[in-house]
Amino acid sequence: MAFESLSDKLQNVFKKLRGKGRLSEADVKAALKEVKMALLEADVSFKVVKQFIRSVEARAVGQDVLNSLTPGQMVIKIVNEEMVSLMGSETTELKLNAGSAMTVIMMVGLQGAGKTTTSAKIAGKMKEKGKRPLLVACDVYRPAAVKQLQVNGEKQGVPVFSMGDRHNPVNIARAAIEHAEKNNNNIVILDTAGRLHIDEDMMAELQEIKENVQVDQTVLVVDAMTGQDAVNAASMFQDKVGIDGVIVTKLDGDTRGGAALSIRAVTGKPILYVGMGEKLSDLEQFYPDRMASRILGMGDVLTLIEKAEAQFDESQAKKLEQKMKKAEFDFNDYLEQLDQIKKMGGIGDMLNMLPGMGSKMKNVDIDESAMDRTKSIIYSMTPAERSNPDIINPSRKKRIAAGAGVDIAEVNRLMKQHEQSRKMMKQMSGMMGKAGKKGRFK
Ligand code: GDP
Repeated sequence: MAFESLSDKLQNVFKKLRGKGRLSEADVKAALKEVKMALLEADVSFKVVKQFIRSVEARAVGQDVLNSLTPGQMVIKIVNEEMVSLMGSETTELKLNAGSAMTVIMMVGLQGAGKTTTSAKIAGKMKEKGKRPLLVACDVYRPAAVKQLQVNGEKQGVPVFSMGDRHNPVNIARAAIEHAEKNNNNIVILDTAGRLHIDEDMMAELQEIKENVQVDQTVLVVDAMTGQDAVNAASMFQDKVGIDGVIVTKLDGDTRGGAALSIRAVTGKPILYVGMGEKLSDLEQFYPDRMASRILGMGDVLTLIEKAEAQFDESQAKKLEQKMKKAEFDFNDYLEQLDQIKKMGGIGDMLNMLPGMGSKMKNVDIDESAMDRTKSIIYSMTPAERSNPDIINPSRKKRIAAGAGVDIAEVNRLMKQHEQSRKMMKQMSGMMGKAGKKGRFK
């Protein structure tokens, strides 16, 4: 889970701070020492940690803070603000040329960082914005890379330009741009070759592409799980090739957070997006303030709301509201709701974004497989049974249980839950009706 261990440690420090009515300078210094340790263990670069603690301390040991009614809260607020500023304060968008002018984006990074996957993710984002992206396979050393890009491009409904592995990347990039001009593509995404380690050849190749075609944005992809190595790689790429922004991948599995926290401060370049999973939809805009909230265990309600909104289908919601009012909520609706939750990234992911939930979630075993079992029970019902659950008698229950491969008790439980929801909806719609009347005759 993203930032789990860092988040846990920081929350422990804060708990102690909150517990004290008054704070002395020594209390604050001791707490900041623990924050410092937590950040170093999270693999945040040493220089960055030192500067960070210095900035927090300068603001936190002042009399205003120590004499305030809630000194603990004030210190946490300062840590939060400094963390936001460390990550760049403002959200930075990937810069695109205005209007319908073409933008050429060169994706660079070490092998395995997630370049090819992220190229396809970006292409999908651009398409959503109404752009016409073209993905270009410039990695001629790894034949599988071309195929991988083609497969991902197809999934995203984005064309992929490739010339196999017999041409050099500069020629491929040139030909791709010509192809894009002819075919009205206004975003060209060059997926370049990575190496296992930084080497001269790789850097020379990237420089050569930049010298020969007009690259508008060079985007570095780094793997969050590699911590300081990712930050060092970012420095090298910045020195040798020049980068405009960074995408940090695999944040979903990064419990420490060091790379995400250090990159901006070390390279001076903003994080544009973060990769939160292997699926092509798992790319999130990077918001320094929301990320700080997540790290500090304050949750990320805004992202949760946006995810919900992205899944929100207004006509479907209206239909559901009508059904709820009439207490006609059947198993087809139940199924739709389960799918919505799944699309939003599962219950565990959703709860993690709620304030204070991150650390608690670890001990709660959310049984998402129960959701799948419920689905398989509903799938084993006939269409008539789904839309009219009242006809489900004991022999039908037996058949459904056998079809879903579950115990009949589980079918009974689902039926009971459904009946209870219906009852509750009836009561609620009764209450809504009364409130409505009262409102009209006020
Ligand atoms: P490349 O060598 O830089 O092109 O890397 P790939 O795009 O082939 O990615 C390497 C591996 O990382 C693949 O298995 C991807 O599915 C995986 N990956 C990429 N981005 C993410 C991410 O944000 N989260 C997770 N969990 N896996 C990712």
